[in-house]
Amino acid sequence: MQYRTYGKLGFKVSALGMGCMRLPRIIDAQKREAQVDKEKALELIRYAVDQGITYFDTAYGYHNMTSEVVLGEALEGLREKVRIVTKQPFGVMKTQGDIRRNLEQTLKKLRTDYIDVYLIHNIQAPIWEAIKQRQIIEAYEQFRSEGLIRGIGFSYHGLLPAFKDILSYYPWDMCQIQQNFMDVDREATAEAIGLAGQRGCALVIMEPLRGGSLAYPPPQIQRIYDAYPVKRSAVAWAFRHLITYPEISTILSGVTTLQQLKEDIEIFSQPDAVPGCLSEAEQRILSQVKATYESLASIPCTGCEYCLPCPQGVHIPGVFRQYNDGVMFGAFDQSKRGYMFMGRQNQDASPCKACGTCEALCPQHIPIIQELQTAHKALKGWIE
Ligand code: SF4
Ligand code: SF4
Repeated sequence: MQYRTYGKLGFKVSALGMGCMRLPRIIDAQKREAQVDKEKALELIRYAVDQGITYFDTAYGYHNMTSEVVLGEALEGLREKVRIVTKQPFGVMKTQGDIRRNLEQTLKKLRTDYIDVYLIHNIQAPIWEAIKQRQIIEAYEQFRSEGLIRGIGFSYHGLLPAFKDILSYYPWDMCQIQQNFMDVDREATAEAIGLAGQRGCALVIMEPLRGGSLAYPPPQIQRIYDAYPVKRSAVAWAFRHLITYPEISTILSGVTTLQQLKEDIEIFSQPDAVPGCLSEAEQRILSQVKATYESLASIPCTGCEYCLPCPQGVHIPGVFRQYNDGVMFGAFDQSKRGYMFMGRQNQDASPCKACGTCEALCPQHIPIIQELQTAHKALKGWIE
């Protein structure tokens, strides 16, 4: 296993971190319920520790608030070998008392006296002002002075301008962003990696495989990989795209099976799985792979947002992005899950009243109403 320095906090972590939001599950389709398959999850987490993984990422809300419980049980007796990082959701941060009570619950669930790094979960531009006003960072500083947490960070899914604003506001110990070779010009973009590195902020990457989508390339993509003289799996290509950045401390993999975990460990244990591992020729291969994936998208939405705001709150480009991702990657699980979260914010396609306002504004002349129906049909039905 390769190890890297964790920003200004200075400790070493395994370059491969285990994300605990995709633990193995038992699904009851009739009741539309799912729960963590505890036996398999414990085996997975303990195997990871045995193989030298020292970084475990979870969140209060993952797996309907049970991920922390399972992780805590799995790491019983192993606490000193690992770093535990978890996240607090904005929804519980109404008062200073709420923030503290929630942390106390998390510590109990994780069976530990301290969290290595405590994150504000999924800061988004619309809640950023409220985070500042509610003095959430100040509350975390107090927790740190009491030894309940050792570092302060945030996770982020969003665009570069707001990321820059948040990153420069406070001397964060770490930040966690979505990146992979498909997102170099999306989400916070590859530029965010360099910005975090310049500030000494440990950088942790989530979604390196786009929710697993990049692991199963369609034939058009596989042919590009096969034509390259060095043979490696699609998973290895995707990870090496991130391993090559020296600013990244750890790359999270949300493994579900022991086989996936073993494959990941093998990739991160190679002697050349170090910064600078991707040659220019290999970077060109990944650019070609990205362009080919993008050519498979079926709705020509550019994400310009001229159609917004929809009076019913539908986030039209967001729906199309989820659908296109499902089509591009030939797998809809990740997109369905994302769409379920959009639904929780009433941004999915279901409230559309077919008023037609958006269609008149779309420079691509997309039949938005009809495409929203197609997307909704393909994306609905995820069981969390
Ligand atoms: S047609 Fe549907 S998506 Fe478009 S603006 Fe009207 S309600 Fe919103
Ligand atoms: S206006 Fe058209 S291209 Fe632009 S985001 Fe909306 S649907 Fe996509």
